[in-house]
Amino acid sequence: MSNVDFDEVNKFAALASRWWDKNSEFKPLHDINPLRLNYIKEHSGGSLKGKSILDVGCGGGILSESMAAEGAVVTGIDMAEAGLEVAKLHLLESGLNVDYQKIPVEEFAEQHAGKFDVVTCLEMLEHVPDPSSIIKACAALVKPDGQVFFSTINRNPKSYLFAIVGAEYILKLLPQGTHDWDKFIQPAEMDEWARHANLSLKSMIGMTYNPFTKVYKLEDDVSVNYLCHYSH
Ligand code: SAH
Repeated sequence: MSNVDFDEVNKFAALASRWWDKNSEFKPLHDINPLRLNYIKEHSGGSLKGKSILDVGCGGGILSESMAAEGAVVTGIDMAEAGLEVAKLHLLESGLNVDYQKIPVEEFAEQHAGKFDVVTCLEMLEHVPDPSSIIKACAALVKPDGQVFFSTINRNPKSYLFAIVGAEYILKLLPQGTHDWDKFIQPAEMDEWARHANLSLKSMIGMTYNPFTKVYKLEDDVSVNYLCHYSH
């Protein structure tokens, strides 16, 4: 059975032309990218130079390109063809190199087990039918001494208010219907799936947004958006 929800993937495909427009629906991803890139770098030994990295659910390549710019050898996979096309076109502009492929991560894991120094899967788990299967595939893809990073949105009344009502309906940072609260993931659920995949938690950090200053920050509060770092 496929672990791809095509209604979800098609939402991203429909917006694909705007991936690199920093004032578009993808503005929040552009805005948080330096923060998460820095977190990944710091928790991967301080440098991404020369590291082989797989970016799962890469979309238009915002994170993939930024890691390639740090000197990493990046592969990006996604199931939305249109986003990958935009990602490939953008390489012509940036002059960077990323290997973009349309393939489910579970299938990719059968071919490339244990090959990557770093695996990232950001803002994607809340869009798939079975997140535990994605986590398992990411665990299989990373080298025994490699690092895995996930980010998603916590599930509680506050996250309903902030990530859905606030972000989609009041501030209109994201299109209405981008997120489905039921699919948000509590850190304890993430950790249980990760432990089943033999991953152990190294660190976790919250990502907050202040609507008055329009500033995103990494801080201890994991009640809405959060990022986590795992390894074997
Ligand atoms: N990781 C990127 C993009 C996040 S948007 C970033 O943080 O910048 C979510 C992405 O997940 C979209 O590009 C969407 O097409 C992709 N996606 C959703 N379900 C997927 C699946 N089952 N397999 C691969 N990609 C998927």
